Amino acid sequence: MIHLNANDLALAKSLAQLKAASGSHSPSIATLKEALPSLKITIDACFLSNPYATDLFMQELESKLLAKQGLRDALEFYPSQNHIIAQKLAKYLHIDSPHIFIGNGAIEVIQAVLHNFVQTNLVVPIPTFSSYYEFVRNDAKVLLYKLPKEQNYTLDIEAYTKFIKDHNAKNALLINPNNPDGSYIPYDTLRECLARLRHLDTIIIDESFLHFAYEDSSLEQISYTKLAQEFSNVVLIKSMSKDFGVAGLRAGYGIMAENRVRDLLRNGYLWNVNGLSEFFFNLFSDDEFLQKYERVRRSYITQTQEFFKALGQINSIKTYPSKANFALIELLNGTKAQDLCIKLLSSYGIYTRSCNDKIGLEGEFLRIASRSEQENAQILQALQEIFSAC
Ligand SMILES: *Cc1c(COP(=O)(O)O)cnc(C)c1O
Repeated sequence: MIHLNANDLALAKSLAQLKAASGSHSPSIATLKEALPSLKITIDACFLSNPYATDLFMQELESKLLAKQGLRDALEFYPSQNHIIAQKLAKYLHIDSPHIFIGNGAIEVIQAVLHNFVQTNLVVPIPTFSSYYEFVRNDAKVLLYKLPKEQNYTLDIEAYTKFIKDHNAKNALLINPNNPDGSYIPYDTLRECLARLRHLDTIIIDESFLHFAYEDSSLEQISYTKLAQEFSNVVLIKSMSKDFGVAGLRAGYGIMAENRVRDLLRNGYLWNVNGLSEFFFNLFSDDEFLQKYERVRRSYITQTQEFFKALGQINSIKTYPSKANFALIELLNGTKAQDLCIKLLSSYGIYTRSCNDKIGLEGEFLRIASRSEQENAQILQALQEIFSAC
């Protein structure tokens, strides 16, 4: 068992208060640092981002914006309108810009889609990203579909489509790879699932972690754009916070039928992207940037999968198979996830996500993000020390 001392218990209490004030999300590092100045956090394995992509963005920002005195313009002038930013992404996404809706983070796209296009009901596989059931309209019903623990929370399309049919559901969600477990539905299976669900009003596919997934050792980037063209009821939603490591910018997009984008833009979202995000979106027409990004994406996937393999070798925990950039671990020896989370934070400065509040998970779970190679080594060492002592 993990032994918590008086300091640890005090930290646990403060964290619980901060968490209570953050709803179903974790308090940010900035919030923690402000509230607990004596706490030394050295690794943020709670937030799920590619740190190498953040480094790349910083280089681009310095050489292309700051060095060229562009910051003042980015702050002084209005950014482009939503449909103009969409044009900047169209070539990169291989789809015409009228299909693209730009969001102030994916969270805004989720909100817009749920509020405008999801009436009556929505099927949400759990465990999941909480906004999908928290942001639905008051008059829409959420139908929770439990992903099977005995199949590592991987979606079984047979069971899922049956659930949808039995409940006469009109809308459904798929997050691929899923958060918080990282399970992945292969492309062909996903397509088969969509083919069976043509009759639904809307199928949301959240592809926020898709850049971390791969189908074979070539690590080729997977794209669902073709699926959105083939099935007109599909809405793709993508956050750029995780794969590009820029959560503070607030950048995301949706791909959907043209009339839906038109509906959304008719009554809002005109300048919802700020000047710095526009600078970021401009990078998608820069082949040199895209090549550099592709390199950091691939090396991060390789390191991440090595990290998961090493996690899998630690006694007393189960590491769930993941094609995202985080791993869900289950504690098997009676250790409480919350205690492990506190121990990692207080003794090692490592911030992780205890999953106690996640509906659809039964047991003690922690979600750990893959960071830089060196940080991953530190996380592994901390876990090995903790579990060899108890
Ligand atoms: C983090 C996350 C989002 C929200 O991303 P933002 O672009 O930062 O708003 C959406 N969907 C999933 C599955 C996520 O994990």
